[in-house]
Amino acid sequence: MMMSEPQRFGTLRGTLAQDAPLARYTSWRCGGRGDRVYVPADRDDLAAFVRQLPEGEPLTVIGLGSNLLIRDGGVRGTVVILHAALAALELSDHAIYAEAGVPSPKVARFAARHGFAEAEFLAGIPGTVGGALAMNAGCWGGETWRNVARVEVLTRGGLFEQRLPSAYATGYRSVRRADGSPPDGIFTAAWFAFPQGDARDARARIAELLRRRIATQPLDLPNAGSVFRNPAGDHAARLIESCGLKGFAIGGARVSEKHANFIVNPDGRASAADIEAIIAHVRDTVRGKTGVDLEPEVRVIGERA
Ligand SMILES: Cc1cc2nc3c(=O)[nH]c(=O)nc-3n(C[C@H](O)[C@H](O)[C@H](O)COP(=O)(O)OP(=O)(O)OC[C@H]3O[C@@H](n4cnc5c(N)ncnc54)[C@H](O)[C@@H]3O)c2cc1C
Repeated sequence: MMMSEPQRFGTLRGTLAQDAPLARYTSWRCGGRGDRVYVPADRDDLAAFVRQLPEGEPLTVIGLGSNLLIRDGGVRGTVVILHAALAALELSDHAIYAEAGVPSPKVARFAARHGFAEAEFLAGIPGTVGGALAMNAGCWGGETWRNVARVEVLTRGGLFEQRLPSAYATGYRSVRRADGSPPDGIFTAAWFAFPQGDARDARARIAELLRRRIATQPLDLPNAGSVFRNPAGDHAARLIESCGLKGFAIGGARVSEKHANFIVNPDGRASAADIEAIIAHVRDTVRGKTGVDLEPEVRVIGERA
C-alpha cells in the first residue's frame, strides 16, 4: 500500500512540498516543477529526511541555482534546497567552517574580516559553498578546492562522512572522486584553510573584484554566469563574440550584449527550452566558424516539456 507523504516522513522540521515550482530557486528564473521539494531546517534535519527517502529515489541538490538550467518539464524524484538551511559559518581552530548553504560571498567577507588571504575570489561567485565544492568554482586566480582542508558529505544512506581533499580529483570546474567516479552524496560543510593576510588588503581586493564584475557582467538581468567553459588558451566569450552572436535571441532569452558568454532572461519570460536552444545554436555556430567545440559549464537537469 502507498504511504501518504506525512506518514512516510515523520519527525521532520523542514518544509515539504509536492509538485512545487523550481524557477524561483534558480538565478535564470525559469524551468519546471519538482515532484517533491524539501527545504530542511538544518543539517541534522536534512540527514533525517534523506534517511527516510525511498531507496533508489532520484535526489537532486540545489544551492542557489546559479549554475543550473532546469528544463521546463521539471525534475522527477526529490529536490532538496540547501541555501539558507545549512547556514553555520564560524572559526574552527585556524580554519573557517562553512556549511553548504552559506553563500560564497559571505565566506569571502568573513575571511577578510578575520584577516585571511586568498578567499577574496569567492566574493564573485553568487552560489553556495556546496555549489562551489561541487563545481570547483573559481575566478580571479582562486579556486575553491585549493583551500579546502576537509569536507563533510552526507551519503545517500543518510550518514555523515568527513573526507580529505585527497579523496577527490579536482581540476578546472571539475570534481571527481579520486578513482574518477562522479562525486557521491551531498556536500554539507567544508573547512577552509586560508593563509594569514591583511584584512584591509582583502577588503580592497573584494571591492576591486566586484567593481570589475559590475562593469563587465550583466548582473542586473537574470543569468547563470558563464554558460561555457573556457577552452584551453582561449576565452569562450571572445569566440562567441567573434561569431557575431552578441544579442542573438530565441523566445525570451538572448546572448548578453555586455558579456558574450552570458545568456540573459531580461523580462523573466524565457523558457528553459529558449535558453537550451541558444546554447545549442551558439555551440553549433562557434564549432562551424572556428572549429572549437565549446563545452557547457552550466548544468542542465530535468525533463523537456
Ligand atoms: C553572475 C554570475 C557569475 C558567476 N561567476 C562565476 C565565476 O566567476 N566562477 C565560477 O566558477 N562560477 C561562477 N558562476 C556560476 C556559479 O555561481 C557557481 O558555479 C556556483 O559555485 C554554483 O553554486 P550554487 O549554490 O548556485 O549551485 P547550483 O547552481 O545550485 O548547483 C550547481 C551544481 O552543483 C550541485 N550542488 C549544489 N550544491 C551541492 C551540494 N551541497 N552537494 C552536492 N552537489 C551540490 C547541484 O546539484 C548542481 O549540479 C557565476 C554565476 C553567476 C550567476
